[in-house]
Formats: sequence, structure tokens, C-alpha cells
Amino acid sequence: MAKPVVAIVGRPNVGKSTIFNRIAGDRISIVEDTPGVTRDRIYANSEWLGQQFSLIDTGGIDIDDAPFIKQITEQAEIAIDEADVIIYLVSIKEGVTDADEHVAQILYRSDKPVVLGVNKVDNPELRSEIYDFYSLGFGDPYPLSGSHGLGLGDLLDAVVKNFPEKSGEDEPGTIRFSLIGRPNVGKSSIVNALLGEDRVIVSDVAGTTRDAIDTKFTDEDGDRFVMVDTAGIRKKGKVYENTERYSVMRALKAIDNSDVALFVINGEEGIREQDKRVAGYAHEAGKAIIIVVNKWDLVKKDNHTMQEFEAYIRDQFVYLAYAPIIFVSAKTTQRLEQLPALIKKVNTNHTRRIQSSVLNDVIMDAIAMNSTPSDNGKRLRVYYATQVAIQPPTFVVFVNDPDMMHFSYERFLENQIRNAFDFTGTPIHMIERRRK
Ligand code: GDP
Ligand code: GDP
Repeated sequence: MAKPVVAIVGRPNVGKSTIFNRIAGDRISIVEDTPGVTRDRIYANSEWLGQQFSLIDTGGIDIDDAPFIKQITEQAEIAIDEADVIIYLVSIKEGVTDADEHVAQILYRSDKPVVLGVNKVDNPELRSEIYDFYSLGFGDPYPLSGSHGLGLGDLLDAVVKNFPEKSGEDEPGTIRFSLIGRPNVGKSSIVNALLGEDRVIVSDVAGTTRDAIDTKFTDEDGDRFVMVDTAGIRKKGKVYENTERYSVMRALKAIDNSDVALFVINGEEGIREQDKRVAGYAHEAGKAIIIVVNKWDLVKKDNHTMQEFEAYIRDQFVYLAYAPIIFVSAKTTQRLEQLPALIKKVNTNHTRRIQSSVLNDVIMDAIAMNSTPSDNGKRLRVYYATQVAIQPPTFVVFVNDPDMMHFSYERFLENQIRNAFDFTGTPIHMIERRRK
């Protein structure tokens, strides 16, 4: 199920990104050698009192060249659209400013719960001044110091209290997938074409599909799917929709809430930096991935075009070697009918469990074929391996010395596992553990 979303809003300089980083901590593990993963974060996952949620720093979504008041207006609207709970941040240093009043006016218009944080309360003497902020009309102000990490517990208690009741779980067997990719690659066209097909039955009540955040449907075999964030894919005509940081944030959120990510590329334009960011995130998050090359109707083709485009993608996304590539056209619907089956296939692989005995036969054969690395007369010993998780399939390998498992040897073992079992479309995680 979708996680609750918390957005931080407020005028510039009140400390939004400082508070964001305090709450998010280091939770997003960023693998050093994954290209294209952004470091200046506006979106992260966090947890408080065992409750997971996503966190958005709206201050990081700037609308190019827009005047100050327009920026904070748009940011507040993003928070209202995206969040279940809004943290409205002000600063004790300046007191209540005109810009604070302006943001408050926008937030009044929504019925989203707002928790008011007063930042830069660095020492106890300042605490008496927080009463001024009752005038904003959002109830008790929570004193914070982003610099010193103070007050966050009480603030988060209030945030978590306002989370919506859990809505129903998906029916068993439902596959959640998302379409991710830059604006204009054709995501909404694919959605419309897919849902418009006779063999697909959309289970939402007629007329509400457009507004639904997620869209449920069954394919011709009766298998159930949830298309995550359909509302975000279909445009509402807001100014911020085409800004890069907004669409990246939206994609990251959709990825978090799905099992399978359809990474849509514009076949006519090729790959851009922004494509790499979202694909890198999906990979790191361990999601099953399908690369969908759209607008294939616009590409001048000869006998080699598809192969050449595939080679180009493989070169640009070395770490996505496991992801199948499908060439489609939302316009002519070419090959779109193959998508549900492909989603099911990668989902099966993403949830595949391998029996330990079979797995160890493969590992031992691999070691016999290509002996383990050695260093200074000491050799890596692999005792046994076992699968500890699915989504993505995660294997623990027990060894004498984890430091001796070089990247290249781990990659070799992964490839042997992939040769023996079908893990198309899913990353595999390998963890080495010391066993004496
Ligand atoms: P944003 O524009 O709202 O995201 O604000 P930033 O997080 O970038 O912070 C703006 C400035 O306020 C930076 O110089 C921060 O170091 C400073 N700042 C943030 N939190 C605190 C705090 O709790 N106390 C003090 N004194 N300064 C803070
Ligand atoms: P999104 O922003 O990723 O949702 O992209 P849209 O679905 O809005 O498509 C952007 C533009 O590309 C629209 O003008 C579509 O009509 C066009 N488009 C989408 N898919 C195709 C396709 O397969 N072939 C062609 N020729 N045009 C397409």
C-alpha cells in the first residue's frame, strides 16, 4: 500500500532543507558507483514510531525564473496536492512575516492537516516567543532547532497522529506498477492506450478513473494490476508539472509505491540525464524494471535499428543489464498488448524463491569453474548461500572473509545464478557474511 506523504513548506531560509535532512537522516542508501543519483535531495523515505512515510522538501522544487511569491505559492500548492500531512515551517528569528501570512492563506484553503514548526529556537530563552505564531491559526506551534536537532520528536508525533487511516490492502496477487520517465515521453498516452484496450477491464467506477490516484484493472487472464499514480501521469495543467525536479520527485514517489517500474524512454529523442536519475533510483530501490522505448513509430528504421538502439541503451545503463527492453508506440499501439504479460513475467522473477540445495549446487559449480580470489596466500572460501528475501531476490553468501569477495567475483556469482534461474527484469542483491 501507498505510504503517507509529508511535505515541508515555508518561505525561503526558514530551514526547510535543514529540517528535511534531520528527519530523512541517511536513510537513502546511495551506492557510490550508481550513476545519476541525485545528492541534493528533495524526496526521501523516513520512519517515526514504526510508521514509514515519504518526505518532500517543496523548497527544492523551484519554478524557473518565477518571482518569489509565485515560487512559494506553487510550492504550497504542490504540498497540498501531494501530501497527507503538511509541516509548515516558520522561523523565530524573523517572527511572522508577510510571506508567512501568504503561505498560511494558501494552506487554509485545503483540508490537509498542517503541523506548524517554528525553527531556529536554538536556546530555551527563545521559547516564550513562539506564542506569537498562534496568530497563524494552525494550533500549537512546535519549537524546533534544525541546527541542534531539537524538538523533532514532538513535531513528528503530531505529524504521525494526523496520518490517514490505512485504506484497504490490495487483493492478493495484485501487481503494482508505475510508469516513470521525463515529461513528454508518452506515459499518459501509454496509460490511455493500455486502459482503452478491449482486453483490459478497468475496475474503477466509470467517470472516476481520471481522478483516481491509482487505477486498478485486470488483464485478459483475469490477473490484477494496480497502476500507481495514474493521476500524476495525467496532467492537470499546473505550471510546476513540467519542471524537472517536480517530475523527478513524482517518479521517485511512484517507484516507492510499486513493485515493477516501466521506465519509458522517448525513442525519437534518446536518453537524457533526467532519465538516468529515476532509473538509478528504481535500481537502488530494488524494483523490477522494464525499459519501454516509446514513439517507435517516429523512428526511421532499417534491419539494424532495434539492435542499435538496444546497444545504445545497454551502454547508457550498464547497471540495468537485467531489464528487458520493449519497443512500442502509444500512437499505433504497436506491441502494447505485450506489456501486461511482460509485467507479470518480471514480477514472477522479482518474487522468485530458490531452494537452498539447488542454489548451492549452482554456487559450487561456479566455484569449480572459476576459483575464488586469493590474496597473500589466503583464499576466499565460500561455505554456502541462502536466499533470505524476495522483491528483490536477496542472497546471503557465507564466507571466511567478506573483504575478499571482490566486486568482479560477486558479479560472476550473480551471473551464474542468472544463468541457472530466470531473474530477467529484477536486480539481485548479494550480501556476504563471515562464518568461522
Ligand atoms: P530553506 O531555504 O528553508 O530550505 O532553509 P535552509 O535549511 O537552507 O536554512 C537556511 C539557513 O538557516 C541556513 O543558513 C541554515 O544553516 C540556517 N538554519 C537552519 N536551521 C537553523 C536553526 O535551527 N537555527 C539557526 N540558528 N539557523 C538555522
Ligand atoms: P507524458 O508527459 O510522458 O505523459 O507524455 P504524453 O503521453 O503526454 O505524450 C507527449 C506527446 O507525445 C503527445 O503529444 C503525444 O501525442 C505524443 N506521443 C505519445 N506517444 C507517442 C507515440 O508512440 N508516437 C507518437 N508519434 N507520438 C506520441
